[in-house]
Amino acid sequence: MREANCIFCRIANGEVPSKTLHEDDNFRVILDLGPATRGHALILPKEHYADLYDLPEELAGEAMKLAKKMVTKMTDRLGCEGFNLIQNNGDMAGQTVFHFHMHMIPRYQADGQKIGWKPGEPTQDELEVIKNTIVG
Ligand code: 5GP
Ligand code: ZN
Repeated sequence: MREANCIFCRIANGEVPSKTLHEDDNFRVILDLGPATRGHALILPKEHYADLYDLPEELAGEAMKLAKKMVTKMTDRLGCEGFNLIQNNGDMAGQTVFHFHMHMIPRYQADGQKIGWKPGEPTQDELEVIKNTIVG
């Protein structure tokens, strides 16, 4: 399914032009218009899936394989020194475009970006409760 009003559906299917780094039957990889660093790219499925919950398992696997290929090539070509893969799901997690996408963000010395979180300090008991909540 594709959604007429979804900008990433339109980009992924070539209706709206983009700086495309890769295209195959299932995905298009484009440069982000508001890059965190030089070469920040997005993996978009051609079909519309809102987020990771919605994405079929097989495409999720394919997206990660494609990320590995792209990161390897981009590291070689851009001369970056590391990569962040980021994939936001839901408003609360910072998702702003509700068509699944994976960010690939090249990292450079002194690129001025700080991607991370403030570490918590849970006790072993608290970790045990969380573990049991998830797998119990
Ligand atoms: P999110 O916050 O949903 O994880 O990320 C959305 C990303 O899409 C942002 O990094 C934003 O810069 C990028 N973006 C939004 N609209 C467009 C667009 O029309 N073209 C491209 N290439 N990137 C876009
Ligand atoms: Zn879409």
